Amino acid sequence: MPKVLVLGGRFGGLSAAYTLKRLVGNKADIKLVNKDRFTYFRPALPHVAIGVRDVEELKIDLSQAMPEKGIQFQQGEVMKIDAPKSTVVYKRPDGSIVEEDYDYVIVGIGAHLATELLKGWDQYGYSVCEPEYAMKLREKLNEFKGGNITIGSGFFYQGHNPKPKVPENYVPTGDSACEGPVFEMSLMLHGYFMKKGMLNKVKMTVFSPGEYLSDLSVGSRKAVASIYQSLGVNLVHGFKIKEITDKEIISEDGKKLPSDLTIVLPPYTGNPALKNSTPDLVDDGGFIPTDGNMVSIKYDNVYAVGDSNSITIPKLGYLAVMTGRIAAQHLANRLGVPTKVDTYYPTIVCVADNPYEGFAVSVKDDTWYGGSVTVADPAPMNHLKKELFTKYFMWTKGDMALEKFLASW
Ligand SMILES: Cc1cc2nc3c(=O)[nH]c(=O)nc-3n(C[C@H](O)[C@H](O)[C@H](O)COP(=O)(O)OP(=O)(O)OC[C@H]3O[C@@H](n4cnc5c(N)ncnc54)[C@H](O)[C@@H]3O)c2cc1C
Repeated sequence: MPKVLVLGGRFGGLSAAYTLKRLVGNKADIKLVNKDRFTYFRPALPHVAIGVRDVEELKIDLSQAMPEKGIQFQQGEVMKIDAPKSTVVYKRPDGSIVEEDYDYVIVGIGAHLATELLKGWDQYGYSVCEPEYAMKLREKLNEFKGGNITIGSGFFYQGHNPKPKVPENYVPTGDSACEGPVFEMSLMLHGYFMKKGMLNKVKMTVFSPGEYLSDLSVGSRKAVASIYQSLGVNLVHGFKIKEITDKEIISEDGKKLPSDLTIVLPPYTGNPALKNSTPDLVDDGGFIPTDGNMVSIKYDNVYAVGDSNSITIPKLGYLAVMTGRIAAQHLANRLGVPTKVDTYYPTIVCVADNPYEGFAVSVKDDTWYGGSVTVADPAPMNHLKKELFTKYFMWTKGDMALEKFLASW
């Protein structure tokens, strides 16, 4: 029986594993390897930071969820993929190193949050990207008495060569990997401090390594700039953060912004396990270039999905789910199950929530790729969309089967 290894257990890996199992049933052995036993619903980690959700509500035990669907689970940290040999080397929790072979591998281990590139991060940096960061920020916000808050993202070390085999306009260059969480956090904190009666004690600045939200249409960017103006939020473009101190942040070219609390989406680089893999599997940034079916341009039995794939720009859950689904559909055909394969077409689809003020901004935009769809809609109903997205992910244990219908606005 063909053996499929799925590496990574969040949006990309889970979508691929569940979809493939649904399509091929017992025609393949499917095993998912993730470095932790638990996975968390990342889009609601900002909600943990402002105290409207708890980490435990967002936790899925992969060691139960996978076998329930007939998928094997192995906790293990992938160290490298040897693509010519068709093996994956990973470390088990007991420290033992395993080299496991595969007929097909689907790589969904995401990107690397390169906090080590930010001087002062350990002492003064805050984020919401992982549960422990969100909890640390929650405590800091609880005790915050007022002052300057800066929110922004680090630089995106995107790879460019070799290029993936998809239309060039699908893979623009981004200064930031994903600014949606920055936008969301800035809205949320306005609500958070309003509820606490502290708005007059807080001065918020949003910074971007390039032009803020350059992945959205000019019209949507103007709308965001005017929202910020009305909320008294300062917006700084072209600030490539290099260092955080107790009172300021410093950019690579020496600019400074006052900051008593610094919240950063860290710089994104390729996953170290991929940088350590067969060199021609990855591009110069450590991401895997593929074709539109998510098949590696070099190794026919390697698929890449989600943030690990060089075609997903920006690094977005919506694109991770789409690429996971396409990889599974394509592989199902090779495993003898005729299946329609969706066409990859990038679109930015996300919801920036503001629970304390009871609204969210739903975004759908493909203008970055040459399309004409541009929606940025602030409305109370959209807050319910984020709630539904969270509940749906948790109910299904990360199986986003209906996502393409739920996310159609
Ligand atoms: C705070 C925040 C909020 C966001 N909100 C949204 C949103 O609302 N909507 C949206 O569309 N997108 C959102 N995004 C983006 C979205 O979370 C990512 O694009 C998405 O999680 C990518 O999914 P992935 O499965 O490719 O990678 P990841 O989510 O990075 O998952 C990778 C998985 O692989 C595991 N892993 C990593 N390295 C190894 C290794 N060496 N060995 C084994 N396992 C490994 C990780 O533990 C993880 O389980 C948000 C991002 C952040 C940071």
